Amino acid sequence: MGTPVRVGPHRLRNRVVLPPMERNYGTADGRVTERYVEYLRARAAGGAALVFTEATFVRADGRGRSHQLGAHDDHTVPGLRALVEAVHNEGALLGVELNHAGRVGGFEPVAPSPVPFVGRTPRELSTAEVALLVDDFGMAARRCVAAGVDVLELHAAHGYLVHQFLSPRTNRRTDRYADPVLFAGEVVAAIRRAAPGVALFLRLSAFEGVPGGLDTDETLALCRRLPLDLVDVLDISAGCYEAGEWMVQPGEVPRGVLAPYAARFREFGKPIGVAGRITTGDAAEEVLRAGQADLIAVGRAQHADPAWTGTVLAGAEPRPCIGCNQGCIDELHRGHPIWCLVNPATGNEWRQAPPRRASRQRVVVVGAGLAGLEAARVAAVAGHAVTVLESEDEIGGRFRLAAGLPGKPEFRRLLDWYAAELARLAVDVRLGSGAGPLASLGPDVVVWAVGGVPPRRPIDHPRVVDLHTWLRHPLPAPEVTVWGADRAGMAVADAAAAAGQRVLLIGSEPEIAPEAGPREKGLAVRRLTTDPAVRVRLGTSVEAIDGDRLLVGGAWLSATGPVIVSQGTVPRPVPVTDERWRTVVIEHAESAAEAIRFGAGVVL
Ligand code: SF4
Repeated sequence: MGTPVRVGPHRLRNRVVLPPMERNYGTADGRVTERYVEYLRARAAGGAALVFTEATFVRADGRGRSHQLGAHDDHTVPGLRALVEAVHNEGALLGVELNHAGRVGGFEPVAPSPVPFVGRTPRELSTAEVALLVDDFGMAARRCVAAGVDVLELHAAHGYLVHQFLSPRTNRRTDRYADPVLFAGEVVAAIRRAAPGVALFLRLSAFEGVPGGLDTDETLALCRRLPLDLVDVLDISAGCYEAGEWMVQPGEVPRGVLAPYAARFREFGKPIGVAGRITTGDAAEEVLRAGQADLIAVGRAQHADPAWTGTVLAGAEPRPCIGCNQGCIDELHRGHPIWCLVNPATGNEWRQAPPRRASRQRVVVVGAGLAGLEAARVAAVAGHAVTVLESEDEIGGRFRLAAGLPGKPEFRRLLDWYAAELARLAVDVRLGSGAGPLASLGPDVVVWAVGGVPPRRPIDHPRVVDLHTWLRHPLPAPEVTVWGADRAGMAVADAAAAAGQRVLLIGSEPEIAPEAGPREKGLAVRRLTTDPAVRVRLGTSVEAIDGDRLLVGGAWLSATGPVIVSQGTVPRPVPVTDERWRTVVIEHAESAAEAIRFGAGVVL
């Protein structure tokens, strides 16, 4: 991974690329912000060889997000130049990915053909307009060259405009652009003409992942007709908007899942880049050693830890991306700037002050859930002597329970990282102790991070059990009812179905896990709604329990086994404070992200 490689006219210092990842950190007219500069600077300083902007629109109607970057106008050039300078100062190269969103654009969707997307029908581009768009790509490339950009990438993947022309699913034209490779070929040539001195990457989806979409054989056949002599690197991803799980794979998808597909593009004799949940150094090395690719696109893992590359190259463990898709992808779909569940500093690099070393104090953190773990880490980094008291025999609190679910295989890595990090920082973690030894430790500061407890059971019946109790002590049962279709209820229902249990999922929610976005819950929702052993009743509630029957929305349903209640938690009372020490209470968190953020916000 640390071996340099040549791409076009450039030498990359290693094999790690920060791939284009939409961030919504720009201005409303597509310009770079200080936030954007510092975000990329941090990843360049962290060791990546090449860092990309996000998919950067070449024309105003090609925008997908309200605060996406553009190269559509000369006013974008100074900002792009600032990015180049920041990234070069850290020894990396800057790439810009040129894109037009086409039918999946959020504002004025246009497309090769009027094939609807989420209920909206895009306007079909005329032949003359398509030719003008080719020029727009060329002009955007010219602006990037003026800004000093090292690498340009044409986004021909993920169901955006160029991909829409390539695919028979979305290109139903009868003019000359009915030839699926014509538009892509003309755009490649236009970019190359405008930017002869840059390295040119072509980003492709190895397959679309939907019925009627391109498979890998068909994509390879199209590539054989593209002017690849003008291209320096083939950058392989997968999927399209209708198959988002292939564009941004959740944590339950194996690492490096796209590497075998990338290897098939070796036939073109070009350096190959590959994306697809390559989140650990081992996974990256495996792909490189197998010769499946030459460059590794590490997106979310570098989003979670900007120092990922340097940390991995030094043989250490970075703060892990757990594949939750909450802060980085689903937040984007909500139209917000992206954040990261595991790292509250992500996206805030521009306003970060270095950790302050106050006079050394004795800090005791009560509670080793995520909030307590992060608070202990922050205190130890600030130079304090830190002890963590935890009543359970393991760290992690409620998050540890989630980490045991089959749909969350990466969650455990975050707890392992905290355990290693606290050990490295010489934090004294006492498990199974509770707050008993508190006074004997003589603290200057006590941080209470004791989390929440289940609320009162909505129905007092022997069959009713709280979700957290159930996760701690599950009992074998051929059938379970999960009462509460929130994120946790969904995950437990999904786990029960995976274990072969019949499941009845009941919730007052209008949809399964409304607080979760499509990239987080997509696979679980699909399983739950297509599994004949799962019954889902939404917009309703359990009104009574009588033997093996539940009264739901006025009708009796047969349902045996436990009724597992998922209704969140309420704050646990904090013991009275003591005047011998300063007391800091961490707010009760509703989510893992909130817990880490609250823990990080501890001021000592
Ligand atoms: Fe990874 Fe989740 Fe952070 Fe996204 S929000 S980078 S998936 S940990």
